[in-house]
Amino acid sequence: MGTVSEYFGSLVFDDRVMKAKLSAEVYQSLKKTIDEGAKLDPGVANAVAAAMKDWAVANGATHYTHWFQPLTGITAEKHDSFISPAPDGGVIMEFSGKELIKGEPDASSFPSGGLRATFEARGYTAWDPTSYAFIKGKTLCIPTAFCSYGGEALDKKTPLLRSMEALNKQALRILHLFGNDTVKCVRTSVGPEQEYFLIDKEMYEKRRDLKYTGRTLFGAKPPKGQEMDDHYFGVIKPRVAAFMEELNEELWKLGILAKTEHNEVAPAQHELAPIYTTTNIATDHNQLMMEIMQKVAAKHGLVCLLHEKPFAGVNGSGKHNNWSISTDTGVNLLSPGETPYENAQFLLFLCAVIKAVDDYQDLLRISVATAGNDHRLGANEAPPAVVSIFLGDELNAVMKAIETDTPYEGTKKKQMKLGVDVLPKFNRDTTDRNRTSPFAFTGNKFEFRMLGSSNSIACANIMLNTAVAESLKIYADRLENADDFQTALHEMIRKTIKDHKHIIFNGNGYDDAWIQEATEVRGLLNYRTTPDCVPHLLDKKNVDMLTAHKVFSETELKSRYEITLENYCKTVMIEANTMVDMAKTEIAPAVETYAAEIAKAAAAKKTLNPSLACVYETELVKKLSRLVDRIALQTDELEAALLDLSSAETVGACADAIRDTILVKMGELRLACDEAETVTAKKYWPFPTYGDLLFGVK
Ligand code: ADP
Ligand code: MG
Repeated sequence: MGTVSEYFGSLVFDDRVMKAKLSAEVYQSLKKTIDEGAKLDPGVANAVAAAMKDWAVANGATHYTHWFQPLTGITAEKHDSFISPAPDGGVIMEFSGKELIKGEPDASSFPSGGLRATFEARGYTAWDPTSYAFIKGKTLCIPTAFCSYGGEALDKKTPLLRSMEALNKQALRILHLFGNDTVKCVRTSVGPEQEYFLIDKEMYEKRRDLKYTGRTLFGAKPPKGQEMDDHYFGVIKPRVAAFMEELNEELWKLGILAKTEHNEVAPAQHELAPIYTTTNIATDHNQLMMEIMQKVAAKHGLVCLLHEKPFAGVNGSGKHNNWSISTDTGVNLLSPGETPYENAQFLLFLCAVIKAVDDYQDLLRISVATAGNDHRLGANEAPPAVVSIFLGDELNAVMKAIETDTPYEGTKKKQMKLGVDVLPKFNRDTTDRNRTSPFAFTGNKFEFRMLGSSNSIACANIMLNTAVAESLKIYADRLENADDFQTALHEMIRKTIKDHKHIIFNGNGYDDAWIQEATEVRGLLNYRTTPDCVPHLLDKKNVDMLTAHKVFSETELKSRYEITLENYCKTVMIEANTMVDMAKTEIAPAVETYAAEIAKAAAAKKTLNPSLACVYETELVKKLSRLVDRIALQTDELEAALLDLSSAETVGACADAIRDTILVKMGELRLACDEAETVTAKKYWPFPTYGDLLFGVK
């Protein structure tokens, strides 16, 4: 392989390739579609398809697939060969514009929340020309949206594209009000930092919980955990380094700008950060990144765990969604500007985000709701389930000065007059210090930190984009009709700060006192679990807002409500069944065997010397027997509770029962089993322990 600059993006049908392989006319026409959403001419589609196919075949591809993101949370593909029979009995490699633009995967097994039943039996995929096609293995992958024939979205990409368009539309209105007429398009960009664990594959294979559920359902705390903080940014082990090197190469070939990698707080935990890009592409890239991490790990005898909480008592994995808004002219709208005018514009966009996050706290919480992430949020290792915003001291002081019309006590100690004064340059160090906030301003972007490591970033960005579009719409409606722009602007910013300052919190988000203040004093929402928050997706204010911006229809929202809760129920039910299975067929027999062995040892000693008391053996056998009884009892109870679930009439009722009963019983069974692990000789324990898993990769 050559140098990085030679192979970077070598498997992507990107702008460079398009320019080289398409006629100037076709290229211009396609560019117009990509940049401005212009409709694609069928003739152009045919020319693009032919060029794409030739390029793909020259790079070893034999198949193509429409690559899409159904509501399972992972990506889907159905491979079709380029090969068509030729009249002379041979074959030719064919790929038409029609095949590029539209596909009809047999989609009946993807979740649709009842959508397909009410519309058409089949869904179709439609090419998304704004995300580049790429080659994976021997297959040309074409990023697509996935819809029903009634036009209802069955995927995560369709609403994401719609949300980007909603924000574009409203942001352009605001920019025009500021006299900025050269901007054609406003896009959000995202750089998602991805956390993950790497463990040894042989050990993984011995644990059915990891194999079936992605997390450990049992496991006593090891004598050493993360308390020494010696893993964080520590030296990367050779096997892990080899994995990272190959991972980078694979990602670079796909044009994914993997940039930094380091060890995380927990042992065996790592992080990969890409350089940010347009939200749509960042979403595709993050899905690809997760997939390739797992593939490359397998080649190195490792398993990459993307679960939010693979190990109890050890930090879980999240994903930080670094998000900003910028123009096609290269201006980051969340970056304080050089002139008073730019500053006023910056403050308006900043206020739009603050208002959006406050008004739609529930939607942001819902966008990260999964059974896995429920273990993380609020566990004093990740942000709490309460949404709040960190601005940093300097920006906070600016906001306070505007709100109260008092002098700004920052570096310059002067009054902040919008449109007249220039904001101070914020010191990055002070904006980036708080790591415990769910939503932090970090100098020129916001970092939304509540996402779980396995979440698609689409959901969070759909809600964020649309909620901000809504704030901007309200602002634009007012400003377009204002008699005096400056005064109206100033008043609006001041009102936003006044109305929404309760969402701003610069302290320690992991502190229990904060949760109390947030909920009892400030009235912020605290939805601890998925079943707590997801029903609010259908609250009138949320449905009204999301449908007004045409991001979701009401039917689509209902189906997403169903699917999210269904996924939650299925996930926990699989976990509970796996626990029952492991407790019955592995743990109880192991404890029993060990108890019998000890009893046998005591009996043997007594045969030699009947006066021996064998206190150690007797007590241990008693203890083991009590534990086995407890394990058996709790397994029965969990099984009975699982059977009871069938009486739940709605998915909501089932989810509630899972939260209130199943998860509690799972916790009790685990407690008994983990205690048994601490008193059973290691060689009798049926699978690798936490210590083995967390410190097993050299
Ligand atoms: P750190 O958080 O490690 O100090 P950075 O600020 O460089 O690092 O960035 C963290 C992530 O934020 C990276 O993925 C980076 O690409 C992304 N990022 C930086 N600037 C932006 C931006 N304007 N919009 C979106 N993401 C950004
Ligand atoms: Mg970060």
